[in-house]
Amino acid sequence: MRRPPEARRVAPPTAGLPLRAADLLPGGDADLEGALARYLGLDAVQLECSGTAALVIALSVLHERAPQRDTVIVPAYTCPLVALAVARCGLRLALCDLLPDSLDLDPQALAALCDARTLAVLPTHLGGRLAAVAPARALARACGAWLIEDAAQALGARRDGRCVGADSDMAFFSLAVGKGLTLFEGGVLWVRDPALRAACRAMAARLAPPRPLL
Ligand SMILES: *Cc1c(COP(=O)(O)O)cnc(C)c1O
Repeated sequence: MRRPPEARRVAPPTAGLPLRAADLLPGGDADLEGALARYLGLDAVQLECSGTAALVIALSVLHERAPQRDTVIVPAYTCPLVALAVARCGLRLALCDLLPDSLDLDPQALAALCDARTLAVLPTHLGGRLAAVAPARALARACGAWLIEDAAQALGARRDGRCVGADSDMAFFSLAVGKGLTLFEGGVLWVRDPALRAACRAMAARLAPPRPLL
């Protein structure tokens, strides 16, 4: 079958939409971050090229704040990109067991892992259900670690009317295809503390400085 002429002009990844010259230029929707923040009910978010990139930025900033802390605790069952992000930052991955018949972190197993080397704990919302975050938050606080909610699969999810992540130190979401609301690729980072938030902006510019197109 002959393909329609516009199909031949489409370069991936456009999810089947025609590619326009303006799509190759930076900018696009001037206030996508603002629109996303309003949609999520968060004060401000940082748009990144993927959830993985958002996590790399977050961990890089936290490790600079606490260089003696080098371990990231994640659920033993999670997305492999999380492990790649941790490795990319030169950090250690610690896998925490889940509760039986659940995707939640086992608080006892988590307590045994948390120590002075723990940089961050990542409760993770998988498959359209919300993980219990409060026990992990208490344990992370007790050992001086940050709590980052992995909400890659939970964009738009709310608990008690508030966006997931809003009660933690940081949260990230994915806009990748297959995650729910999608731009095909993309990630969103939310950071509670204004100083850390500014540091995450600066880190993004440092890790991936803007390059001229040509
Ligand atoms: C997809 C996913 C990520 C990474 O998000 P990308 O936008 O694909 O980089 C992280 N954590 C979980 C649980 C995921 O499902």
